Amino acid sequence: MRAALAQLVEHVIRNDGVVGSNPISGTIFIEMVPMNAPILITGGAGFIGSHFIRDWLGDASRCSVVNLDALTYAGNRESLADVECDARYHFVHGDIADRALVDQLLVKYQPRALLHFAAESHVDRSITGPAEFMRTNIEGTFTLLEAARHYFEKRSDADKAAFRFLHVSTDEVYGTLGPDDAPFSETTPYQPNSPYSASKAASDHLVRAWHHTYGLPVLTTNCSNNYGPYQFPEKLIPRMITNALAGKKLPIYGDGLQRRDWLYVGDHCAAIREVLARGKLGETYNIGGWNEQANRDVVALICDTLDRLASPASRGLSVKSYAELITSVEDRLGHDRRYAIDAHKIERELGWKPAAQFASAMEKTIGWYLANETWVKHIETGEYREKKHASA
Ligand code: NAD
Repeated sequence: MRAALAQLVEHVIRNDGVVGSNPISGTIFIEMVPMNAPILITGGAGFIGSHFIRDWLGDASRCSVVNLDALTYAGNRESLADVECDARYHFVHGDIADRALVDQLLVKYQPRALLHFAAESHVDRSITGPAEFMRTNIEGTFTLLEAARHYFEKRSDADKAAFRFLHVSTDEVYGTLGPDDAPFSETTPYQPNSPYSASKAASDHLVRAWHHTYGLPVLTTNCSNNYGPYQFPEKLIPRMITNALAGKKLPIYGDGLQRRDWLYVGDHCAAIREVLARGKLGETYNIGGWNEQANRDVVALICDTLDRLASPASRGLSVKSYAELITSVEDRLGHDRRYAIDAHKIERELGWKPAAQFASAMEKTIGWYLANETWVKHIETGEYREKKHASA
């Protein structure tokens, strides 16, 4: 009987249903949330958000998606060109810190979840211009939490039980690790070192407080470095690929021995879907690739792969190997030495673990950049910023 009941509950949850109890009467209810209730995503024109949306809509049985994005320099509608015609996709050009707009979208679309990807995300930019990081990452998250809280409080019991505010955050909130330290777990104290990580840490604390104080059903994910297609060419991996193909120098900070735990973006999106479906309210989940690599080894792998897939000679370059373009530059201020994620909790509780293998996923990523040089060119010329207007 117990096993049958557990199976029924699992089935209902997997099929967008809700099992809950009325807090006053204690009556247990099972209710199906309307399949057409959309999810609201912030920052869906960015690197990870665009992958999440494409993967989500790739399953025809899934609900529609509203994408609220300010189209900063990092937002690119061309990254979602293949879903623009999907009737389940709605783009809204706007700022997460615009409370009136967020309220209006919540009333109009009545989403069953809000997935918060939008952020200023580049550490170097946070060092030269921290103000925008404080505004978007802290004030923007605060605005979303307040709007979600007021929306949530007016929902029916079933809608309340189904609603989720999922906050996408980073492992950088934990600071830096020594060479022999254990990887970051969900209980590692926060010690952010850059303006970027400090602003993300602040947003994580706000999310936690809105759960503890107001009962908002939140989930937080702290993820390691992502890589994959459609990443803006200011981040390490796409920067190296695009510079190499153009025959430009490959700048590595300092000694290049900074270590990061690389995760393929598709694995990250799969983990977020699991947390959304079955994560425990108020909990945080660390997401990582069990794949620690020194920056200079990552660059060496990119050069080896490029030598095979698009030799320098085939691009009209005089070097024999792309590795000859590697050059050391002055280290970033306050550069964290090592990040590594202990992803046991999400594996144990939700059954997620990364599927991608680093060398082959890197090859796939490089193959994508080779096949999509126009996407990169439009970023370099600024053409990608011309398509801004809302379709919702
Ligand atoms: P990204 O910089 O590629 O994209 C950010 C998106 O947010 C852009 O589309 C931008 O236009 C939008 N945006 C920025 N400010 C906005 C505002 N005020 N209102 C509405 N939209 C706004 O970022 P990403 O790499 O896709 O990262 C997504 C999330 O994942 C971020 O919260 C980031 O902190 C987190 N994260 C990223 C990584 C990574 O390796 N990229 C790792 C761990 C966590």
